[in-house]
Amino acid sequence: MFIDTHAHLNYPDIAANISEFLMRAEDSGVESIIVPATTYRTSLDVVELVQKHKMLWGAVGIHPTELRDFDEKHLEGIEVLAKESKVVAIGEIGLDYYWEPYDKELQRHVLVEQFRIAKSALLPVIVHNRNSTDDLMDIVRAEYEGGALRGQFHSFSAGLKEAAECVKIGFYISFTGNITYKPNAGTLTAYEIVKNTPVDNLLLETDTPYLPPVPYRGKQNEPSYIKYTAQKLADLKEVSIESFAEVTTNNARSLFKLS
Ligand SMILES: [Zn+2]
Repeated sequence: MFIDTHAHLNYPDIAANISEFLMRAEDSGVESIIVPATTYRTSLDVVELVQKHKMLWGAVGIHPTELRDFDEKHLEGIEVLAKESKVVAIGEIGLDYYWEPYDKELQRHVLVEQFRIAKSALLPVIVHNRNSTDDLMDIVRAEYEGGALRGQFHSFSAGLKEAAECVKIGFYISFTGNITYKPNAGTLTAYEIVKNTPVDNLLLETDTPYLPPVPYRGKQNEPSYIKYTAQKLADLKEVSIESFAEVTTNNARSLFKLS
């Protein structure tokens, strides 16, 4: 059984047909799916959605590319939502220096505050990073507090050195369907990282609706496609897909305390 730790099932065109997505996911061996929010508004939607479906769990948080209408009150709102029963993480949160214009100071502030919310709520974090590895690692080191901060680097895009540091501090990393694409320099680094990272520190994710694995490249991604990414990762680790699924599912259950 697989756990998809990252699927934006709250997006309106998906949420409107959620039962079909969940049925196909179950048929493909997916037992649980984590739905991460990207704003305060969508955090409210996520909480409502996951309460309606047994196999869904939610993450609440404010994404670094969604700060146009940011208000300090949104952080107070996230802190309140963090206590909802099916909320298992603060995410997705992080830094993004790709989409312009960006405000580094504001991104840092919102990220640090959400790391603190996660620590006080005893929840892990789901971290997004795009072109911001050095600043992100600095903040993680500063907020780590000997293990109080736990979590996942989703759609991992940093290097071997950062992956090793994540393992050392007990964080988990995950890759999306783009690891199944025809190799380029970035993919080859990802292969090396997977080979050098213990299975105990890996998670599975689709990042639905983005980055579908081959043979669905160019289509809308969905949780039922997770087996293709899982197969590629299992091949890189030279283990069976069954054992890879079992370990990564246990990892997700333990990090996010799914029951
Ligand atoms: Zn995402």
